[in-house]
Amino acid sequence: MSHPAHPYANQRIGLATIHAKEQAIAPPFRRLLGANVLVAPEVDTDVLGTFSGEIQRTDELTHTAVLKAEMAFTTMDVDCAIASEGSYGPIDKVPLNAGGVEIMAFVDRKRGVSVVETMLTHRTNWRMWRFRPGDPLVPVAAKALGFPTYGVFVMTNSDFSRPVKGLETIEQIVAAVDREAKRSADGLALMIADMRAHRNPTRMKVLRALGWKLAKRLANLCPKCGTPGFGHIDSRRGLPCGGCGQPTHYIHFEIDGCRACGHAVARPRKDGLQTAPKLACQPCRQGAAAAVHR
Ligand SMILES: [Zn+2]
Ligand SMILES: [Zn+2]
Repeated sequence: MSHPAHPYANQRIGLATIHAKEQAIAPPFRRLLGANVLVAPEVDTDVLGTFSGEIQRTDELTHTAVLKAEMAFTTMDVDCAIASEGSYGPIDKVPLNAGGVEIMAFVDRKRGVSVVETMLTHRTNWRMWRFRPGDPLVPVAAKALGFPTYGVFVMTNSDFSRPVKGLETIEQIVAAVDREAKRSADGLALMIADMRAHRNPTRMKVLRALGWKLAKRLANLCPKCGTPGFGHIDSRRGLPCGGCGQPTHYIHFEIDGCRACGHAVARPRKDGLQTAPKLACQPCRQGAAAAVHR
């Protein structure tokens, strides 16, 4: 399915990545929009990313992804650019229960619009362990992360700012753990999954799914002005309570809109829910509690 009439058909779109994300993003853009996604040269996206050890907030990631996309404009003569940002970590502070969020930002500087799509995922090999020098479990942990198909980072536990990357053998990983542990204030080295897309096939899969989501969104043209990216922009809360009819915090309806001309339309909830349960309603809950205490 191609769209010869789409505004991005046969257009070049810059992609700010040094981690081969074009593998995930170029195919849906070619298929759904007829656009050519090309890696922007000489853009060091690493300067914006840091390892924090926890899942970052979506708004921070969105901000970074948009900045990254705009970096493509500095080295490439294109109207549109894409970048993605992801963050993985333990969910609810449980180290074995990991997940993450992926953000993909598309910026069209000619039309002055940006479109951001988000994907939450539990599909990840993200894990981290701390080791003392000489710990015999280091090779086991590396293999559990999927090494060598998947990459592994080692860093000193007292400073996450300079991870050792590009480790190619188990021997190199063991040596890095010993060295970084000795450098650390607490004598520990941290081993963590390499989340760079080209060294993490699971993350690349998630990015592929997100790439399709973004391309599908851009395939929708605004019915009023024709700008690509018409779609969900907001949710309105206030679904009436099934008991008393008062507005609740439940989403009442969704709003699809255009970032360029402001045209917007409301659409009902996908699940068809017309009223919220009484449990979601403050007055009804208080009424029930009062009845119990009477
Ligand atoms: Zn519009
Ligand atoms: Zn109520």
